[in-house]
Amino acid sequence: MKPQMLVLAALSALPGWPQALNPAQVTELVLANHILAHEGVLDAYGHVSVRDARNPTHFLLASHLAAGVVTAADILEYDLDSKPIRADAPTGYTERFIHSEIYRARPDVMAVVHCHAPDLIPFSVTGIALRPVYHMAAFLGEGVPVFEIRDAGGVTDMLIRNPDLGHALAQTLGNKPAALMRGHGAVVVADSLHVVVGRAYYMNMNAHLQQQALLMGRPVSYLETEEARKAAPQDGFERFWNYGKSQVDMRK
Ligand code: MN
Repeated sequence: MKPQMLVLAALSALPGWPQALNPAQVTELVLANHILAHEGVLDAYGHVSVRDARNPTHFLLASHLAAGVVTAADILEYDLDSKPIRADAPTGYTERFIHSEIYRARPDVMAVVHCHAPDLIPFSVTGIALRPVYHMAAFLGEGVPVFEIRDAGGVTDMLIRNPDLGHALAQTLGNKPAALMRGHGAVVVADSLHVVVGRAYYMNMNAHLQQQALLMGRPVSYLETEEARKAAPQDGFERFWNYGKSQVDMRK
C-alpha cells in the first residue's frame, strides 16, 4: 500500500472521519423518497430519514431537494445536532432538526417522515381529532397529538429551524407513532423505513376518508381502542412497500 493510502486508512479509523455510507441503506432511503413522492404524501418540501445502520447517533437524510428527484448522491449523514458529517456537504433541509431531535428523544425510532399532506391539515387547525376510520390506519388509535408551535416559540415562520423547536415537537410526539403540526403538516415515526412509509401513506388516506365521513353528517364509528390495537401489527406494510416500489420502477 502507498504511504498516502496508509495515512488515509489510519485517518478513516478515527471517530468523526467520514465513512462510506451503507449502500443498501442509501438505496432504500432513495426508494422511500420516490414512493412517498409518487403516492402524493411528500410534495416538493417534505422529507424522510432513516437512522444510520452503522451508528445509532447518526441519521441519513437527503440534501434540500424535492423527494421525487433525490438520488443516492444526494443522501447526507448527520449527527444528532443536525450537523452534516461531510465537511463539503451541500445545503440541508431547514427542518432537519425534526429528525435529529426525534432520534435523540426516541431510541426506538428508526425512521421519520415529515410531510405536508393536504388532507392532514384540517385536523391540525380545527380541534377535530384525527382518529382511525379503517383498519389500514389502526396505528392512529394510539392518539395523534397536535403540536402548537406558538407554545414553544411564540410567533415564528412556522418552521422547525432549530434544536429547541425540534425538541418541543419531539416532546409533543411523546411515545406516539405520529403527531400533527398546527397549520403545517405532520411527523410520522416507526421502527423501520418500510413501516414509516406505510404509516405516512395510510395516515393521509385516513384523513381523507375521515373528512368524507364527517361530511356525510351522521355520527362516525371509529375503530375501538381494542380493535385498533388488534389491527395494528399488519405485515409491517411490506406489501405496500413492494407495491410502491413496483410503481416507481415502472416509471424508469
Ligand atoms: Mn415542513
